Amino acid sequence: MSGKTIYEYHRPHTMDEALALLARPDIATIPLAGGTAIDRTGPGTLALVDLQALNLDGLSESGANLEMGAMLTLQRLLEYIEANNNTGLAAWAALKRVIQLESTYNLRQVATTAGTLVAAGGRSPARRNTPSGPSRWWCPSCCRPARCCC
Ligand SMILES: Cc1cc2nc3c(=O)[nH]c(=O)nc-3n(C[C@H](O)[C@H](O)[C@H](O)COP(=O)(O)OP(=O)(O)OC[C@H]3O[C@@H](n4cnc5c(N)ncnc54)[C@H](O)[C@@H]3O)c2cc1C
Repeated sequence: MSGKTIYEYHRPHTMDEALALLARPDIATIPLAGGTAIDRTGPGTLALVDLQALNLDGLSESGANLEMGAMLTLQRLLEYIEANNNTGLAAWAALKRVIQLESTYNLRQVATTAGTLVAAGGRSPARRNTPSGPSRWWCPSCCRPARCCC
């Protein structure tokens, strides 16, 4: 299968710039995270907005909540769980298992939390164990900023 042709690549340094690029009505434009799902999409063209310069890869604990940035890689999240010795807690153990089932070690180095939730199909452990996906996502097949049937 041949991948889509990337006819525009942007790497904005501010969120405003990124949102303005993504909101362009005349050019089909989607966010680029790890790129592992986008790379697998079919023929056609894409304009990409690379999110890597926006500092969206944060990871912190706040009370009982774990706050994960959209660009946090699955492997970094897994290593955080292991390093913080929280695997005795059911939720942490479940999250660790979901990440391990979701993708291989090599893919986890690149794939991000947001990209995984957006691209995951019905059989994805991440999708099935998340109450709701992101409020807005871009289909890598048709580039529409909404849920679609592609
Ligand atoms: C060899 C290989 C095997 C794979 N196997 C599987 C598999 O078994 N199951 C599976 O589900 N997937 C699989 N994938 C697809 C892919 O690896 C995963 O879906 C991955 O987790 C996507 O994450 P990413 O960060 O690379 O996302 P990207 O490829 O960068 O983006 C995926 C989608 O998410 C959107 N997106 C990314 N970030 C944001 C954001 N912050 N806000 C809104 N939208 C965003 C993009 O626009 C795009 O539509 C595989 C890929 C490869 C290369």
